[in-house]
Amino acid sequence: MSDKSLTIIKVALAVPLNQLFDYYLPVDMATPQPGCRVEVCFSGRSKIGWVVAQANSSKVAPAKLLPIIAVIDERPLWSASLWQLLKWCWSYYHHPPGEVLATALPPLLRGFKAALAPETQAWRLTQAGASEDLEKLSKRAPKQAALIAALSKPASAEHLAEHFAGASWRPTLRSLEKKAWVEACSSAIVEAAAPISGPSLSSEQERAVVEIGQSLDKYACHLLYGVTGSGKTEVYLQLAVQTLAAGKQVLMLVPEIGLVPQLARRVQQRLGLEPVLVHSAQSPGQRYRAWYRASTGDAKVVIGTRSGLFTQMPKLGLVIVDEEHDSAYKQQDHWRYSARDVAVKRANLENCPVVLGSATPSLESLQNVATGRYQFSQLQQRVNQQVMPAWQLLEMRQQSVTEGLLPETMELISAALENQQQVLVFLNRRGYAPVIMCHWCGWQADCERCDIPMTWHRRANHLDCHRCDARKRVPKKCPSCDSLDLRPLGEGTERVAEFLQQQFPQTPVIRFDRDTTRRKNAAADILTGVREGKPCILVGTQMLAKGHHLPKVSLAVILNIDQSLFSTDFRAIEKLSQLLTQVAGRSGRGQEKGLVVLQTYHPRHAQLVQLLDAGYLSLAKSMLAERRQAELPPYSYQAMLRAESLDPVALNTALTELASQASKLAKAQASQLEVYGPMPAIQARRAGKQRMVLLLQSISRKELDACLRILLPGLPALSGGRKVQWAIDISPQEI
Ligand code: ADP
Ligand code: ZN
Ligand code: ZN
Repeated sequence: MSDKSLTIIKVALAVPLNQLFDYYLPVDMATPQPGCRVEVCFSGRSKIGWVVAQANSSKVAPAKLLPIIAVIDERPLWSASLWQLLKWCWSYYHHPPGEVLATALPPLLRGFKAALAPETQAWRLTQAGASEDLEKLSKRAPKQAALIAALSKPASAEHLAEHFAGASWRPTLRSLEKKAWVEACSSAIVEAAAPISGPSLSSEQERAVVEIGQSLDKYACHLLYGVTGSGKTEVYLQLAVQTLAAGKQVLMLVPEIGLVPQLARRVQQRLGLEPVLVHSAQSPGQRYRAWYRASTGDAKVVIGTRSGLFTQMPKLGLVIVDEEHDSAYKQQDHWRYSARDVAVKRANLENCPVVLGSATPSLESLQNVATGRYQFSQLQQRVNQQVMPAWQLLEMRQQSVTEGLLPETMELISAALENQQQVLVFLNRRGYAPVIMCHWCGWQADCERCDIPMTWHRRANHLDCHRCDARKRVPKKCPSCDSLDLRPLGEGTERVAEFLQQQFPQTPVIRFDRDTTRRKNAAADILTGVREGKPCILVGTQMLAKGHHLPKVSLAVILNIDQSLFSTDFRAIEKLSQLLTQVAGRSGRGQEKGLVVLQTYHPRHAQLVQLLDAGYLSLAKSMLAERRQAELPPYSYQAMLRAESLDPVALNTALTELASQASKLAKAQASQLEVYGPMPAIQARRAGKQRMVLLLQSISRKELDACLRILLPGLPALSGGRKVQWAIDISPQEI
């Protein structure tokens, strides 16, 4: 067979190789379109692939070419614009195409499952079911009674899953269907609920809606700056109403799962429809149904976390990225994309507006406003004449502290509780103590695979490595000197909560961190309890800092942030000032004026003072000026080559060679490219592997990209390169 007679199909495979793979099309097979799945043989095994392009010839020798085994989809899985976005993604991020495509699909479609309509997943009561005496039934069959009560209105599978919070309900449903008390119905009926009209907008909100609403039929990127509690969500909802009225769909992104229920509830009440949710805690079946409903245009509003960004929506008319500054939008492993940045690109390709909302916008976005690429709208006032909370800096030097708390802080907590208010204590460290140490010889319990201290979780009674999740039992005596005097050093949320509970025995002290919210719906349950409004103390990590609306909190206490004031990471102050502003923003959102207490050893730290006196935007302006001076992002572009290996020598050799290649390249092209490193990553060792980075930076994004295109294909050929795992991090957020 001469290769002229062959049609070559270029296929993306979910393997960590940044290339497409050639297969030939058997003569009796119809040519599949780009974006369709095909079955191919790879490394001797059957594998799913995605058609990217067609060609007339291949560099692979004809005898070695394998055929496409089968075409799975008749039509592409993605719309033309989403397909274009995905192609842009793998090029921009220098990431293997197949892995990008797999990320953009619900798990079920990463395999061979046909993209068919899922079975109906909504139910209602029949007349017989509706006339059942619930009280009687609940004695005999409490589960059936509970399900009938939950179906007082027609409800979808998603709704029931939420309602029963992980408890099983499907077997009960089956028995009720058998009794003909319950029947399946189309999901459309479920959506019919009367929307509740919202509050009348403040003049600032009104202006923002008008400014952004002017261009609902074309691309524009709007940065909505609104201080905490200024009613940004109301602005989103108004814009959503207008978009829906034009017959289009709305995509809303939040940085973490914990914020989905709150937004979903508001969308449901205000728009009178059940939003489709897309996040990683859903079962594969739920993900697929969500994807399907969105891709048929049936779902009007999609609310998702990072990966929800890739939901297929044929009539997308508005994209909203709430808390756009949040670093959770950046994926921190595998494909390290920024969901915020890709959302802006998506809106651009779909030709619809995108709104980035935040009380603490990223410097990147503010810079884009300065250059005119983004429009700027702002809400400077809180709603309902609420004033912004007042700050109080408490100096820790030479003070006596108990479990990290100053006497003055304790008095303020006590006063707030007496005033029937709630208190929030923020501490970005979970567990009881971050270190346990032998008082006799100084030995401390470290993770052998990461060389960092392990955290003592006292109630669970084990040591955890917060970097690699390794777990150990707590030693009874010092392994080095046999002393029994092992002491916890420093405080985590568990320790502070325990101490506060001793001090305020009558008041519920509630811990809110990854350990106490692991169970499904645990976070939502805790917050629902808090919203009932009884006095309590919430002790939590940054999970507490994000977007939650807790009207009874009048005091926020912030502990242990001093380390960030002197970090070598040039983004540390930006991140800290966002965090402080967000935590402070949880306070005083109800009737009572809010107070924020910050304990520090450095009350005169210049940037801290500027943040408290002049506010976030003012500090952001100064930080931007410094970045410009130092030619740091957003005034330059960075790519971080991350490498890790079990073999430190191979790692060092490979990176040193790469660094010299990069420097040569920079010289040869007389370019602006700067090469920093190789240097150890901030997490220099993780799970037994040594980690190093090489940083490339240029004031020209084009040039940086071009250099990567020259350097990256050579990675496997570096000396020691095959023993090294690489990750390319475009616009890294951490070292
Ligand atoms: P943000 O997202 O800016 O922190 P939210 O949109 O969550 O603020 O609004 C905070 C609270 O104020 C919510 O309970 C919301 O219903 C209420 N709210 C928003 N806009 C108004 C308004 N114009 N009048 C009265 N209440 C409002
Ligand atoms: Zn010892
Ligand atoms: Zn570890």
